[in-house]
Amino acid sequence: MKTVKIKNSDKETTIGKIVCVGRNYAEHAHELGNSIPEKPVVFLKTVSSVIYSGDKIVYPAYSNDMHHEVELVLLIGEAIKDADLETSEKAITGYGIGLDMTLRDVQSELKKKGYPWTTAKCFDTSTVLSEFIEKNFYQLTLDETISLKVNGEYKQKDQLSKMLHKPAGIVQYISSLMKLEHGDLIFTGTPKGVNKVESGDKLTAELDGLLKLECSVR
Ligand code: ZN
Repeated sequence: MKTVKIKNSDKETTIGKIVCVGRNYAEHAHELGNSIPEKPVVFLKTVSSVIYSGDKIVYPAYSNDMHHEVELVLLIGEAIKDADLETSEKAITGYGIGLDMTLRDVQSELKKKGYPWTTAKCFDTSTVLSEFIEKNFYQLTLDETISLKVNGEYKQKDQLSKMLHKPAGIVQYISSLMKLEHGDLIFTGTPKGVNKVESGDKLTAELDGLLKLECSVR
């Protein structure tokens, strides 16, 4: 059982499912040669792939090209289905940062064949989570900057306002496709600058001064 830990508190929430959207920053879609879809690209990650700040990401034997993707992560606090925008906003009860580690070589092969991305996205240790802040403690404005450094050097750094689909809109759209429940997490897509990581690299992700995540690659 994996949980989300709330910053400065003993509170923990058991994670339900992990829903991710792709191509939610125009410059990132372009850097991978992808078009920008009208609706968000939606895929899932496994809860068993979750590790936390301080843990190690393990390079799987079947890939040579693991990429970092730093993302804002939404915590869902109540069950919703076919929700309107207001209900969707209310259902978001916390924010975290996460790494959606991706095997780009495996994903490229899967894309070519039209197969699902599961093996590129769900390997053990592929989902790294920070602690979360509750919305009643901090209300996101989207003026915040999300960033990722590799060995102290910025690789990804963008304002959340660059998201094509904003948090409430993403939640509303996903709730039109599947029920969302207490403890579900939503990865909101990565800004430009994704890149290969090597064994021994140290990754540091931050959301302004609010949240921080540190891990290394084994
Ligand atoms: Zn991603």
